[in-house]
Amino acid sequence: MTATRVLVLNTGSSSVKYQLLDMSDRSRLAVGLVERIGERNGRIRHTLVHGPDGPDGSARTRESTGPVPDHGAALEAVAEELSRDGLGLDSPDLAAIGHRVVHGGKRFTEPTLIDTAVVDEIERLSPVAPLHNPANLTGIRTAQKLRPDLPQVAVFDTAFHATMPEAAARYAIDVETADRHRVRRYGFHGTSHAFVSRAAAELLGREPSEVNVIVLHLGNGASASAVRGGRCVETSMGLTPLEGLVMGTRSGDLDPAVVFHLMRVGGMTADEVDELLNKRSGLVGLCGDNDMREIRRRVDEGDEAAALAFDIYVHRLRKYIGAYYAVLGTVDVVAFTAGVGENSAPVRAAALAGLEGLGLAVDEELNRAPGDGPRLISPPGAPVAVAVVPTDEELEIAARTYELVTGVRQTL
Ligand code: ADP
Repeated sequence: MTATRVLVLNTGSSSVKYQLLDMSDRSRLAVGLVERIGERNGRIRHTLVHGPDGPDGSARTRESTGPVPDHGAALEAVAEELSRDGLGLDSPDLAAIGHRVVHGGKRFTEPTLIDTAVVDEIERLSPVAPLHNPANLTGIRTAQKLRPDLPQVAVFDTAFHATMPEAAARYAIDVETADRHRVRRYGFHGTSHAFVSRAAAELLGREPSEVNVIVLHLGNGASASAVRGGRCVETSMGLTPLEGLVMGTRSGDLDPAVVFHLMRVGGMTADEVDELLNKRSGLVGLCGDNDMREIRRRVDEGDEAAALAFDIYVHRLRKYIGAYYAVLGTVDVVAFTAGVGENSAPVRAAALAGLEGLGLAVDEELNRAPGDGPRLISPPGAPVAVAVVPTDEELEIAARTYELVTGVRQTL
């Protein structure tokens, strides 16, 4: 019997998200989350999707709270929950573990089988991803301890953007300084941009190699990408995820001199500016809320700060759509994805308002109609398709991991 299951681990600084997938039919067997690692009130929530008594797709959730001292304890708790459902890490059905790794630098442009040299290189990249790579590494090391014999694969958030031409990837600063400190535009959310751009082509009934796509990944973090014939040619995040669109708590683009100004005139330290721009800016900085549902509720009640935050958010989005249209020359489909992109009809409508001259429009009724699969929301026969395409980063990580360890090509 061949092993067909893949455990996907997304290890953050204080949480571990996991999913167990069966690649024979791409079903999800279990999903879960360990939160507040390192705190006294840690929490694990585990959902068995196809239980022994629920082959119809019903789900059963268990939740427990208590201290989770570190990532080791968190992964042991995950292993324990999976075992209770007969899906333990010792199962011969488990083919591999796929890890989300945020920063792959210039070196990692493909999913990579993890060995000591790979671990060392991910560690060397930590200065450019101080919040993410160390946490990802803890997940890798702990998983290796639990199953030293099992293949483990790193799937990088930056990899899909490695095809960006130098003209898009380089900042216009002194080349030697940039190279010495590895300062260039890497881009993030690549796993999602890859998945969604392919799914958007599929929705049009065409090969990814034949279509140009603008992907708008609008979650709490947000990024746009321009994809020509399946290859990324431009994306809005840069050296770090701070560049580009207005996000839940990040500013996105600003004049870099704002940083010197806040340091020289505002007396702030580099760490304070870093925290301001990453955690207290974007929607939350503008109006105190970063949840688009809450912002829309406030807009509907006539709240001015929320209305301005919404306008700034969609103004930036529209600028990027126009810019990426110009980068691509011709566009076949604009695809909205992630929490805001998949769920907020007002954001989608406002982002494309006034762009009819570019062939871009949303059909009001289709835009508002509820739905959970990939779907078109442009008026029938529109020159450029506009689509909502739910992202599935875990499935993409599992597919790439399985493909690498078994050689069995996964077309999603
Ligand atoms: P991330 O993975 O970056 O944490 P998600 O892709 O899950 O984020 O998106 C989370 C965001 O999606 C929330 O902060 C909220 O703004 C938005 N969101 C979720 N559901 C809805 C909805 N029904 N309508 C509008 N916005 C939503």
